[in-house]
Amino acid sequence: TRPKSPNPKRINLSSLPMASPPPKLPIPGRRNILITSALPYVNNVPHLGNIIGCVLSADVFARYCRLRGYNAIYICGTDEYGTATETKALEEKCSPKEICDKYHVIHDEVYKWFDIKFDKFGRTSAPEQTEVCQAIFHKLMENKWLTENTMQQLYCDTCERFLADRLVEGKCPTEGCNYEAARGDQCENCSKLLNPTELIDPKCKVCKNAPRIRDTDHLFLELPLLSDKLVNYINNTSVAGMWSQNAIQATNAWLKEGLKQRCITRDLKWGVPVPHEKYKDKVWAYQISRYSAVMHLSYFSFMIVCRCSMSGLMHQLGTYLSQHHIRLIGRSGGRILIM
Ligand SMILES: [Zn+2]
Ligand SMILES: [Zn+2]
Repeated sequence: TRPKSPNPKRINLSSLPMASPPPKLPIPGRRNILITSALPYVNNVPHLGNIIGCVLSADVFARYCRLRGYNAIYICGTDEYGTATETKALEEKCSPKEICDKYHVIHDEVYKWFDIKFDKFGRTSAPEQTEVCQAIFHKLMENKWLTENTMQQLYCDTCERFLADRLVEGKCPTEGCNYEAARGDQCENCSKLLNPTELIDPKCKVCKNAPRIRDTDHLFLELPLLSDKLVNYINNTSVAGMWSQNAIQATNAWLKEGLKQRCITRDLKWGVPVPHEKYKDKVWAYQISRYSAVMHLSYFSFMIVCRCSMSGLMHQLGTYLSQHHIRLIGRSGGRILIM
């Protein structure tokens, strides 16, 4: 008989404490480059089009930077807050958090499968994000750049909530269309963009009861107050930062129209709470425009910029470009790179 070998000691590798890699920080004198791509929305399974239009070109650029020996960091993450998540949660009968936990893992796995090499693939629902958003909010309050205004929105008494545009359905008001199931933001039949209050015979999508119009107070960012500062800033930075013609033209077109105040709060539950007694039941709309991914992205990047003051910021915009990028990313003294 064979001598009994001593019991091999089984080591469960996954239970060993993993030494986390040291954080990548800007190195003085080196070319430090922060790369981000549009943040994919969390409520779906990414497909090839998302990868091509979103994370792939930034990954190629990040690989190039690493090969050149630049101190480059590529950051992305799932965009988790907002109406679409709340709606999906209602559909799948679970909480928004459960939706995000489920789909974040799916996104993470898909990008790994495609060998997209992020230095960090995070989540916009991370506590750091809340901290940064609330700090920005306090700063805006301190500078007296926020004002209050009353808006009218549809409210469902049965569900006890204001209804986001997509949670309202009704008859399309467009002449000749009369589509019965037009959404609060758009009629799928005639493609006309709508306001939920324009719908004929609106119904709450969840309980099918008729909502009523109710006043709701919101906070607005007084962008017109920042106009002069912004023009000065853009004139200087677009030259120093070697902005592309595209970026300059888009910015100027936007300034020419004149800055307008923007609503920065929303009647939602799933989001960063507004740190203000009167507005504590609302969330901070860091998707200030409908280009929600872009806005999230800007803050996400802004957060990184705040935290590590990286210089030489390069921003991979994928298919998106908006005033928010120029405004926020520009502020960091970085450059906008459109690929
Ligand atoms: Zn229609
Ligand atoms: Zn309802």
